[in-house]
Formats: sequence, C-alpha cells, structure tokens
Amino acid sequence: MINEVEWKKLHDELTAKNVTLIAVSKTKPVEEILAAYDLGQREFGENYVQELVEKQLQLPADIHWHYIGHLQSNKVKYIAPFVHLIHAVDSFKLLVEINKQAAKNSRIIDVLLQLHVADEETKFGFDEKELIECLEYYEAQKEQLANIRICGLMGMATNTEDTTKIRSDFKRLYAVFKNIAQSYFIGKNYFSICSMGMSGDYELAIEEGSNMVRIGSLIFGDRRYN
Ligand SMILES: *Cc1c(COP(=O)(O)O)cnc(C)c1O
Repeated sequence: MINEVEWKKLHDELTAKNVTLIAVSKTKPVEEILAAYDLGQREFGENYVQELVEKQLQLPADIHWHYIGHLQSNKVKYIAPFVHLIHAVDSFKLLVEINKQAAKNSRIIDVLLQLHVADEETKFGFDEKELIECLEYYEAQKEQLANIRICGLMGMATNTEDTTKIRSDFKRLYAVFKNIAQSYFIGKNYFSICSMGMSGDYELAIEEGSNMVRIGSLIFGDRRYN
C-alpha cells in the first residue's frame, strides 16, 4: 500500500486541481481501507455489491461509498440505504429502480450515467444515442423520478498503451458531458461531475477535464482479481 508521503502528494496534487480522489478498494481487506482512512481518505469505491455491504457494516460511518461497477437492478436495494454515488448507470430501467429504492429509504441518490467511449465491446455503458434516449425518458418522467439526481457522467478509456487513443476517448466523454450540461441541465449546478481516469491514465484524464478519478492499484497495490 501507498505510504503516507505518497498519499499526501497524490491527495494534494488532486486537491490543487479540484479533482476528487476515489480510492478504489475492491478486493482489499477492511484493514487496508482503515489504513487509508487514517491517512484522511473518506471517498472509497467498490464494484461488488456483497463486498460493499459487508465492508460498509464494519467501517466508519462517515465514509462516502461510491459504487463504481456494473450494477444489476435486483441488487440496488442492498446499497440504497447508504450509497453516496452510483457511477455506472447504463439503462433507464436501472435509473427507475434506483429511484424506487431511494424513495423506500426516504433518500435522494446521486448517480452518474456511464458513457461507453472505449473500443472494447466488453465495457458497459450507453452509446451516445442511447444516452440521449435515456435523458429524454428522464425528462418526460422527471416528476416520478424525484428520488434520483443525475450529477454527471462516468467512463473508461480503451485499455491500451496508445496515449493518443486514451486521450481521444477522454476528450469525447468530456465533450458529451459539456453538451449535456448545456442542454439538459442548464442552471442545475449539481450536474458537475465528470468521473474519468484510473491508476494508469488519471493524469491524461485530468488534462482532458476529469474532476473525479477512481484510483485503485496505485493506492492499494495490485489486485489478484478484478
Ligand atoms: C477497478 C476499477 C478502477 C480502478 O482501477 P485501477 O487501475 O486499479 O486504478 C476504476 N474504475 C473502475 C470502474 C474499476 O472497476
């Protein structure tokens, strides 16, 4: 795991740029999360529902838990009582279910919509046309969807060494983010999050407009599984 000096350097660098650091703790034990917590980290990201629920029960209540993985509708209910931000909404159906579970918990849940910008077919997310369709459905049913707040977009660049390609993926995501902010969310200051960048590409992502990075291995070391 990252030491105190390295963590502070990373944290200060990101804070100076107004970028929020999500420490991606998936697969890592609660002891390591607590060690990062003791350094001052409060935003943590997980991508398995069961793992997140177990960790949330054991760890301090002032942690902000980000659900960053692909989320199945039937699992929303388990994280709805406490989740801080759901990053990867990729269907209107999922949005409706999050709203329903948020209402049951008398909460408003913040979400990001995931745009698919990478070349890999294996990655999740809307394409641009689907994203607009989802926003149109949302516009039409806003009154019934009062328990969710769409706060921005999230995406992942192609997994490649080619920085030109990575940069162009991030550019596209940021351009769509800006377009949507100026068409669907005028005057809505909460639509402000562009979540892009991981351990290997966060510096490029920030150069291209990211203000929230999801960093795992750089903080916690390599994972045995993903
Ligand atoms: C695992 C994961 C990360 C962090 O990846 P690292 O390369 O370890 O920084 C970021 N975002 C998502 C969606 C992930 O699943």
